[in-house]
Amino acid sequence: MTRVFNFSAGPAVLPQSVLERARDEMLDWQGSGMSVMEMSHRDKDFISIATKAEADLRELMNISNDYAVLFLQGGATLQFSMIPMNLLRGKTKADYLQTGSWSVGAVKEAKRYCQVNLAVNTEASKFTTIPPRVEWKLDPQAAYVHYTPNETIHGVEFHTVPNTGDVPLVADMSSTILSRPVDVSKFGMIYAGAQKNIGPAGLTVVIVRKDLLGHTLPNTPALLDYQKQAEGGSMINTPPTFGWYLAGLIFEWIKQQGGLAGMAKLNERKAQKLYKAIDGSGFYRNPVDPACRSWMNVPFVLPREELDKAFLSEAAKLGLTTLKGHRSVGGMRASIYNAMPEAGVDALIAFMQDFAKRNG
Ligand SMILES: *Cc1c(COP(=O)(O)O)cnc(C)c1O
Repeated sequence: MTRVFNFSAGPAVLPQSVLERARDEMLDWQGSGMSVMEMSHRDKDFISIATKAEADLRELMNISNDYAVLFLQGGATLQFSMIPMNLLRGKTKADYLQTGSWSVGAVKEAKRYCQVNLAVNTEASKFTTIPPRVEWKLDPQAAYVHYTPNETIHGVEFHTVPNTGDVPLVADMSSTILSRPVDVSKFGMIYAGAQKNIGPAGLTVVIVRKDLLGHTLPNTPALLDYQKQAEGGSMINTPPTFGWYLAGLIFEWIKQQGGLAGMAKLNERKAQKLYKAIDGSGFYRNPVDPACRSWMNVPFVLPREELDKAFLSEAAKLGLTTLKGHRSVGGMRASIYNAMPEAGVDALIAFMQDFAKRNG
């Protein structure tokens, strides 16, 4: 068996020890005589798995009882709609910070439900910058402020949490959740599709302040109502049981790595060395303002586009895979989530240096 270093943006690399444990428990979960996939979600074994996963996530992120933690389906993209359905609370306007492709997607869905104010829009910089807070045009009447702390495609990350005063802050943390400590109390809501830093695709984690709930738009389906999902323990219908279980294994793994502080140290180091290799190469280039470069997704371009194909195929031969940039921006992108070992980044840097020497 050969495992590659998989730089995919998502679904993405998972820790090998977690996969091994899932393999070991695959046919017989802890003496139950069955796989987690085969368990009833009402069974006490699965309830214990689900409860422990939530407790571990609450511990990792220090989530207080003021917040509901939901394990849903539909991906982060369904949240683009569920947020206005649930959080407008009788208001008609919402603020959005548009800093890349994913916030563009969130804006598009929100416009079906409310008047969207683009308090920030960095399209003119091709989504490579974040303007200083004084330049944001926030509306105090907005029901909430939505932003994307890490833009997965453009590699742009907020390194501080914006202060939005009394207006609840809503964050699409799909590609940065659990990568560093975060003060949950600063947020009205945090959500994330699982397939970057939490586990397999098919699970979406929502962390939402309970006092914001209970004002869902009329005609909202029960499954799309946070309040009802919270009351039903995310089990109004069958939840994504295997994804929930695997997420629980990931949470345990992160605790073993020193929690979010331990992850942050490792992630910052991995990112710093990769950006340093890019900037110092005189060959590769990252277009993003250094003040808002992502720790998780590192896009870069080669000096001549004709080199892209050779770069990708030579990298793949060395077991460095899925480095092609998103079709909308081109070039390369190395996603270096929690589960990407530092050795993977080191191997990528060594290859990049060798490739530059031969093609410079
Ligand atoms: C991947 C991603 C999404 C989309 O997630 P789905 O689960 O495919 O809906 C949304 N936002 C961000 C920031 C992402 O990285």
